[in-house]
Amino acid sequence: MRLLTFIENDERRLGALVGAQVIDLAALLAAERPGARLFSDMRELIEQGPEFWSRLDAALARTDLTFFARQLDRLKLDAPVRPSKIIAIGQNYYDHVREQNAAMPDRPIVFTKFPTTIIGPGDEIRWEPALSDKIDWEAELAVVIGRTARRVRSEDAYGYVFGYTVANDVTARDIQRADGQWVRGKSLDTFCPLGPWIVTRDEIPEPHGLPIRTHVNGQVMQNSHTDQLIFRVPMLIEFLSRAFTLLPGDVILTGTPPGVGAFRNPPVFLQDGDVVTVEVEGIGSLTNPCRAEVV
Ligand code: MG
Repeated sequence: MRLLTFIENDERRLGALVGAQVIDLAALLAAERPGARLFSDMRELIEQGPEFWSRLDAALARTDLTFFARQLDRLKLDAPVRPSKIIAIGQNYYDHVREQNAAMPDRPIVFTKFPTTIIGPGDEIRWEPALSDKIDWEAELAVVIGRTARRVRSEDAYGYVFGYTVANDVTARDIQRADGQWVRGKSLDTFCPLGPWIVTRDEIPEPHGLPIRTHVNGQVMQNSHTDQLIFRVPMLIEFLSRAFTLLPGDVILTGTPPGVGAFRNPPVFLQDGDVVTVEVEGIGSLTNPCRAEVV
């Protein structure tokens, strides 16, 4: 399934992408099970568990969904999920570590981005130019957790994955470097575009087999492959869940390949009016305009 959140009449609604149409899940579920409690939040949908997900999948396979359908190109999408936490991994692509002439990390480099960083497809990445003028992109494969995970072994880890989406780990490089730790430079409001939808795990049997790219104003800036990941999804879930509990809907950003602006020669950073697209083939493509905001 390809599951998303859309906005209609100022309200968030859950949808499933079927071809070029978005099926309104609340309406579909109401028709399937009159009187059932309806919800509009992806975390709640994920918390229903695998039996519910299968029922939903079966309902979507019915032949006539016309009554519940909207046209994708006419909808405003939100980020597919609003997680309790976003965990991100730094320096996790072999080719990106080589680009920096850095030593290969012997364990994952973990940091966080606050949930207030999240924006949806088409929303503006905003920053105050007096605060930072070195705004960089980072295309990333994002893992969405499917059930509460604590001390999970890597061989069981895929059972805790709900699906995958695409993230842009937008970073203020000057703040990241000046602060000595990364929280502020990684967590400016709007610095985590997420989406456009979640592709459930059954449709992505090998998350380490996907081309990953960034375009800025149509020009290719990053062009790599998730087979370059150093610490892979099962290992990351084992490593992280040994330290803290992962909750349904939590998002892990797995790291970015080479081609970020800071390591280009000469360096390139996002400017007011730029349009940045991050893409993981087989999952989706996420585009956001950039706005330098004088306050
Ligand atoms: Mg990153």
